[in-house]
Amino acid sequence: MTDATTRDTVQREAELYIGGRWVPGGGTDLEVENPATEQVTGVITQASTGDVEAAVAAAKAAFPEWAGRPVAERAAVLRRVRDIVAERADVFADIINREQGSPPKLARALHVDTPIAVVDATIAALERFPFASEIGNSLIRREPVGVVAAITPWNLPLHQVVVKVVPALAAGTTVVLKPAGLTPLAAFELARAFDAAGLPPGVFNLVPGSGRVVGDLLTRHPDVAQVSFTGSTPVGRTIAGVAAETLKRVTLELGGKSASVVLSDATDELLAKAVKITVANCFLNGGQTCTALSRLIVPGHRVEQVEELAAAAAAKYAPGSRLGPLISADQRKEVESFLEPGAGGSAAVTVTSPVDLPAHGFYVTPTVVSRVDPDSRLAQEEVFGPVLSILSAGSDDDAVAIANNSIYGLGGAVWGTDSDAALAAAARMQTGQVDVNGGTFNAGAPFGGYKQSGTGREIGEYGIADVCEIKAVQR
Ligand code: NAP
Ligand code: MG
Repeated sequence: MTDATTRDTVQREAELYIGGRWVPGGGTDLEVENPATEQVTGVITQASTGDVEAAVAAAKAAFPEWAGRPVAERAAVLRRVRDIVAERADVFADIINREQGSPPKLARALHVDTPIAVVDATIAALERFPFASEIGNSLIRREPVGVVAAITPWNLPLHQVVVKVVPALAAGTTVVLKPAGLTPLAAFELARAFDAAGLPPGVFNLVPGSGRVVGDLLTRHPDVAQVSFTGSTPVGRTIAGVAAETLKRVTLELGGKSASVVLSDATDELLAKAVKITVANCFLNGGQTCTALSRLIVPGHRVEQVEELAAAAAAKYAPGSRLGPLISADQRKEVESFLEPGAGGSAAVTVTSPVDLPAHGFYVTPTVVSRVDPDSRLAQEEVFGPVLSILSAGSDDDAVAIANNSIYGLGGAVWGTDSDAALAAAARMQTGQVDVNGGTFNAGAPFGGYKQSGTGREIGEYGIADVCEIKAVQR
């Protein structure tokens, strides 16, 4: 595990955070590998069944007091959490650089600064959240649901946790977190931040372990009121089924196959911007984001122009410097299967060239495939790697229809010179988020999917509402 050639820091986490205390984990040890170096960079002790029971019991016991706290007090604790994370931003970025492989600059900007902005937006939403309103003679109360189990993926080890846990704590629920086994380390640092911020015992609990054991136990547990899950669509389907046995509420943030649609009136300048931003978005985080704009849909007569622009943009993503690795050897194998001939249909052509890959790490060549058949595997399935498909459309209506030809609906983009027409196209996209002409990420806007991209909304006031029951009191 710690042989002499290991260059990575090895972070040892033998304790779990349960009921406001650090306690020895009762499960087996798990090694965490740095996907850029293929070296062990962490060893954690997983939770046992008993640890999960203790965590749920602690969260249940802490709920009434936390739910009853004045909003200003919950906001004050979250503000301290925010300040501690901001003070320790470099520590978080270093952990994420090691466990997830993102290059240092991206580890800071995407993986740490974005969740800090989400905390700020959530605190602002909390301070104006309508916990009480009126309809006629009814007082409408929004009440936190109880214990929330958060189950998170490896692609954004801090952000995916923050977007669930912080709105849940803001609402007044208590939380048991099971982070991804591939990237559990940032969650430990976050638990230390919650502890240092003075979060009351039991309000937040950390139980790392496998999805099949710890995740399943939380999903079945009668004292868990809601499961908030981010990850793959197949596991989301399993969780929805298991949660149905106890009629738990579920929030599911699943996969995507998001489309970037260039309308026929786009100027050359706007087209160039659309291609550059779509490539950047698709390749962000090594292509491992759920909202990746992985289908670029353009007017048929401009395909050649787009191919040149996209190939030039893709060439700037050198693996090992600007482009990080994939999370694992398995994920690399999966992504490579989309680069095999035929995956994009019989007319598909690769417009990028192979590049040198670092000797170590799970890197792949960033790739743009053009003339992709909209019904092909490449156009239909989530790749979760730096692979962009270009598809051609006969008209603007056709472009929107191709965009909507997906089981998914998470992100999206529209580019058009007439901004009213672009907004009208955005309205016809069956997806939870659309960026028009380069509109940027809003840390307070609701985030979630249509169709098989999931159910429920995270972040800000919608994230708070997502973990609240609604009660009507007649007077
Ligand atoms: P995953 O298998 O869906 O895992 C996500 C989380 O769910 C992990 O914490 C996992 O635990 C846990 N889990 C697995 N099986 C479970 C079960 N039966 N009950 C309860 N929890 C369970 O996703 P992944 O392996 O991380 O990634 C696979 C694919 O998911 C990717 O290729 C990508 O398509 C998609 N993905 C989507 C997003 C997104 O934001 N929408 C993010 C990441 C991945 P362990 O893995 O620790 O055992
Ligand atoms: Mg998995």
